[in-house]
Amino acid sequence: MPYVYAFDHKHRRPPMEYKDLLGGKGANLAEMTSVLKLPVPGGFTISTDACRAYLAGGWPAGLDDEIAAQVAKLEDQMGRKLGDPDDPLLVSVRSGAKFSMPGMMDTVLNLGLNDKSVKGLAASTGDERFAYDSYRRFISMYGRIVLDIDGALFEHPFEEAKKSAGVSNDAELTASALKALCTEYKAVVKSATGKAFPQDPIKQLRGAVEAVFSSWNGARAIAYRVRERISHDLGTAVNVQAMVFGNRDDNSGTGVGFTRNAATGENKPYGDFLVNAQGEDVVAGIRNTEDLDALKKHFPAIHGELLDIFARLERHYQDMCDTEFTIEQGKLWMLQTRIGKRTGAAALRMAVDMTKGSGKGDKRWKISKAEALGRVTADHLDQVLHPQLTGDFTAIAKGLAASPGAAVGKVYFTADEAEAAAARGEDVILVRNETSPEDVHGMMVSKGILTSRGGLVSHAAVVARGWGTPAVVGAESVKISGKQFTAGNATVKEGDVISIDGSSGEVIVGAVELKNAEPPAEFNTILGWADQIRRGKLGVRANADTGEDATVARELGAEGIGLCRTEHMFLAPDRLPVVRKMILASTPDEENEALAELLDVQRADFTEVLSAMDGLPVTVRLLDPPLHEFLPSIEELHIKQATSGLSSEEQKLLAAAETWAEHNPMIGTRGVRLGVIKPKLYGMQVRALLEAAKNLRKQGKNPIVEVMIPLTVTREELALARGWVQEEIDRANKGVKNPPNVTIGTMIETPRAAVRADEIAEVSDFFSFGTNDLTQMTFGFSRDDVESRMMPAYLEQGLLKRNPFETIDQSGVGELVKLGAERGRATDKKLKLGVCGEHGGDPESIALFYEAGLDYVSCSPFRVPIARLAAAQAVVGASTSTTK
Ligand code: ADP
Ligand code: MG
Ligand code: MG
Repeated sequence: MPYVYAFDHKHRRPPMEYKDLLGGKGANLAEMTSVLKLPVPGGFTISTDACRAYLAGGWPAGLDDEIAAQVAKLEDQMGRKLGDPDDPLLVSVRSGAKFSMPGMMDTVLNLGLNDKSVKGLAASTGDERFAYDSYRRFISMYGRIVLDIDGALFEHPFEEAKKSAGVSNDAELTASALKALCTEYKAVVKSATGKAFPQDPIKQLRGAVEAVFSSWNGARAIAYRVRERISHDLGTAVNVQAMVFGNRDDNSGTGVGFTRNAATGENKPYGDFLVNAQGEDVVAGIRNTEDLDALKKHFPAIHGELLDIFARLERHYQDMCDTEFTIEQGKLWMLQTRIGKRTGAAALRMAVDMTKGSGKGDKRWKISKAEALGRVTADHLDQVLHPQLTGDFTAIAKGLAASPGAAVGKVYFTADEAEAAAARGEDVILVRNETSPEDVHGMMVSKGILTSRGGLVSHAAVVARGWGTPAVVGAESVKISGKQFTAGNATVKEGDVISIDGSSGEVIVGAVELKNAEPPAEFNTILGWADQIRRGKLGVRANADTGEDATVARELGAEGIGLCRTEHMFLAPDRLPVVRKMILASTPDEENEALAELLDVQRADFTEVLSAMDGLPVTVRLLDPPLHEFLPSIEELHIKQATSGLSSEEQKLLAAAETWAEHNPMIGTRGVRLGVIKPKLYGMQVRALLEAAKNLRKQGKNPIVEVMIPLTVTREELALARGWVQEEIDRANKGVKNPPNVTIGTMIETPRAAVRADEIAEVSDFFSFGTNDLTQMTFGFSRDDVESRMMPAYLEQGLLKRNPFETIDQSGVGELVKLGAERGRATDKKLKLGVCGEHGGDPESIALFYEAGLDYVSCSPFRVPIARLAAAQAVVGASTSTTK
């Protein structure tokens, strides 16, 4: 296999399918050259294979020869030679990985110039000024980008030159001034690197190529890949391309163009353009750009040609493309194209528009509904579902993007203060090290939540996602002390305004402007198509604990509840004392009394949830967390004991808290184990549930109840728990003619349960995979501690490809899900299977769940639209562009 491919190389498949090998830019340059026959300056691509070989073992043997052969070919094609003292060929060296990646090495233009060829360029163009301007640009670009010299060392002499010439505009510098600058720049290179500026074009080229390869492992590139979930082993390609000059004269220019409007989705080409300018000038914002109408005025014929090319590109790629183009002395050149990035609103509009058809006559084309679904990503939907930050800003800290959307508000550090401020009418951002169930009242009223610790399945993250409240968690650089926090150099005090972006994890001082969430009309069209495609194949339910959440979820398209966490009902301020009474009970009477009180409130809660989901299944999980979560903190009680002393009630609480304290509560007395120790508790919960269902039945409603036992690891355990539930059912149904529909199942959230799913299925009507715990227990990663502390290092070093709490670990945890599904179904073909971990709302994980044969996924209400889309994408096998 060669390492280098000319743009016109005959690949076996269309070049655009070789992005792995050629990188995105290279694949599309080849596609434009060899398939579309567009005017593209000649060149070649050094493949990602070469980059990987270089990174593994240094400059690959044979690469020099291949490059030399390709250069010779390019020289023939262009009728010019690299370094020719009379009429030199110049090239650009452009990095291009599979996915476009800021952080990769910048492009070097005008490579091939040296002290001799610059004279040739001056002679052949008859423009000495142009030649030396190109040379000084090249030396400084090469110096900065390839030789890693501080750019300021080139900026200073440049500003000095302008000052001494008495001009303010770059273009006013004369040829001789520029020539003097070139000499000065070479001296800068010499003194900074200890070596003369390389004069041999082949050495220049090799230096540039090596620099591109090495930039793959630069800090910026790694950080970007971690954030965008791009694999570290892809490597980058390098494109070497003959230069064309948009800065030759006023009959030249350069621009960027979009085949449709990338902001709104409107089917109208859009572009930015500058006369007499090169490359980056357009995006650098140094001069004010003009639009395509201005292009039409300056260059009517080229405008027509460009719009024709736009139409061809769209038809060919069957999607909106963005382009870079340059006009050299009245001739149009295409320098780049790719499927264009777009806003969420534009993505939806384009996807729907393109199913209706574009283009004229026999050039008409359109995409199918299934293809249209593949054009919309989870990020796009997030953008139209949640407020976004707009404008320019600098983040002072960055944490995990835990719950999408942006929020602005005043900082408060405790739930009580947050609650008080919200009551005064303030917008609040609650900032805590981490949150616990005791903070819920403050979280509830906050516009946004920021924590310095904890991961994507930490309490703050899960609760915020459930409510659609923007949240950033695990922002380690945020150091809270008392009523202020610092992050880097910034200090933020109680009452100061900050902005947070739960989609990017950014934290900003001050109020950034917010753009409201407004789903366009196409939102429902696309989701409607998604539902048609996935119906009967993969259902979407929500994780919801209250009637209100259930109502929201249903409006967003949920087809039931996959996880109703009953512990949340225990934490409301009016319930907590009763729960504590039950824990503290020293006699059966006391316990029964507390349980009776809880029965009433639970019945009311269940009634609300079941009626909001009338006619749809509701999976109710019996109490899961360890009991000490309902008790006050031992530490705080000890402090109080030492200072103001404890009341007798508090002394009892302290004793209980100490009794129930566990070294590792997540693998301690929780879930069904709790049921074994306190069987009456589960009995009460089931009774409340059945009474609620019975009452609703009487009102003519149709509650569908699924009772779920958490954390089961053996068949015997589940059989025992099932017995308690069945007992309650028998009691409730005695003499009832038309009893409610109730099934009993379990969560599969330990490796043992997955492995022994065959046995467990003997006593289970359904399984729900609890992938948060399953991930925690399979990896042995404490989900509350590992994510913010250890995960960044693991991702940067490529020890893990993805954060497994965000996207299911395909080959480990995913295998256990598949195994559990398979073994469960081997016992009971009709066993109903679902998933209720946070992965239930993650598109890539959803694809795996579909493959594993699950019947439904369940996620927080605000993720439901995304899950509906992703489920349909999984069904049609369309990979979304979030898959990297
Ligand atoms: P990026 O990926 O950052 O866009 P590019 O490789 O596309 O980097 O190049 C940066 C700029 O240089 C672009 O404006 C591009 O049009 C211009 N450029 C690159 N190669 C050439 C070339 N051969 N001739 C003229 N301009 C070029
Ligand atoms: Mg570009
Ligand atoms: Mg669990």
